[in-house]
Amino acid sequence: MKKEKLRVAVIGVGHLGEYHVQKYKNIPGVELVGVVDINPDRIREISKRYHTRPFGNHKDILGMVDAVSLAVPTETHFRVARDILSEGVHVLIEKPITYNLEDADSLLNLAREKGLVLQVGLVERFNPAVVKMEALLNRPTYIEAHRMNLFTARGIDVDVVLDLMIHDLDIILHMVQAEVKEVHAVGMSVITDKTDVANARLIFENGIVANLTASRVSNKTLRKIQVFQPDAQISADCHTRTISVVRLNGKAKGLSDLPQFIPEEEKFSSSDPLADEIASFVGVVQNGSTPMVSGQDGRRALNVALGIIDQIERGNKNFKSIS
Ligand code: NAD
Repeated sequence: MKKEKLRVAVIGVGHLGEYHVQKYKNIPGVELVGVVDINPDRIREISKRYHTRPFGNHKDILGMVDAVSLAVPTETHFRVARDILSEGVHVLIEKPITYNLEDADSLLNLAREKGLVLQVGLVERFNPAVVKMEALLNRPTYIEAHRMNLFTARGIDVDVVLDLMIHDLDIILHMVQAEVKEVHAVGMSVITDKTDVANARLIFENGIVANLTASRVSNKTLRKIQVFQPDAQISADCHTRTISVVRLNGKAKGLSDLPQFIPEEEKFSSSDPLADEIASFVGVVQNGSTPMVSGQDGRRALNVALGIIDQIERGNKNFKSIS
């Protein structure tokens, strides 16, 4: 018997949504039913480019699809995702899951009640350099993450913590597998009226410390996570998709007999984390398995991000100049 194709649509086909369209078009067993956007010019352009049907409202595709990617601005995530899940459609929602925990919980409950997949687009978890780093973890003590972008006018409906740092929060929370005990954070606005540069230090219940810096007003792109552990220093470059590991080839027997540093490097240049994320979502919907980045993961990252934002806001209010 011929297997039915999975019917999908992409809602919000701006910068990122167009990439989702491209990836779905390349998956066998998937039928792209259409694309949805409230911008008439954009929807005309994208539907023409990818030979698919245009829709101006997400409600118009209900009943025609089994699953959707949701790549609308964050402020609209909750409202649109709720409508879609209520009608029994699986959702891959872009990050951050929502603006607040109440809305995230509401989506999680709806997905659970309806038996639907709710996956969050924290795409770096599909980055092979990050996957390899996780496989090499062995009692880490300290983690350092840097995520720097050139300024663009996209994503500025949220601050840099929800825009960029949330990727590293998700990776680190997944690696550490412990509750955050303390958060110390600072931030400042540079171009927008929200925080554009932020630094956070997280202390986990198990003693691991993570230091994260994110900037969307940098003069270069940098996406790097380093893990320091007794047997190795591991560095995952998410931008170039490269993993570098430095190990000592023995123990020091005295200052005149020091061990050598042995560096190793592996590049995954031809990988495509977004294609893997979307293929994984399709697989989870078809097989009924658990998403690699679940709604619960998205909520956990949001919870810590909101704690960081709160610290930044309180710190800014409490600060009194001494000059
Ligand atoms: P964008 O502004 O380029 O695109 C958003 C599109 O959504 C626009 O075309 C807009 O017209 C459309 N839209 C707005 N409201 C809509 C609605 N109710 N129904 C249908 N369409 C609607 O933004 P973007 O940069 O593509 O970001 C979109 C989402 O993707 C955001 O949540 C953002 O955080 C996320 N994002 C994730 C990553 C990542 O690395 N995972 C990277 C960039 C953006």
